[in-house]
Amino acid sequence: MMDVLMNSVFMTVGPCLVIGVAFGVAALAKRNQVISFDDAKLIWTMHTKDSGCNQRKWQIIKRKKNKIVGFRCECGYEYKQKRPLFL
Ligand SMILES: [Zn+2]
Repeated sequence: MMDVLMNSVFMTVGPCLVIGVAFGVAALAKRNQVISFDDAKLIWTMHTKDSGCNQRKWQIIKRKKNKIVGFRCECGYEYKQKRPLFL
């Protein structure tokens, strides 16, 4: 009985927590213009899977002070971390 109760509590609270964390991460990512090399690599890997791109080469797009803001794939796909929406 207790197990069923705990399960239903977890099933209700769990997704809420996951959604909350996802929104938090998305908000942080939006604010942050600079990404790490690992982030760029991960996004590029996702791009190759999503679009069926079979290119093996990609280039990091850097800004001043060697900060990574995005990457360019051999297929022409370009990813740039969006600027913060503060005007
Ligand atoms: Zn590509």
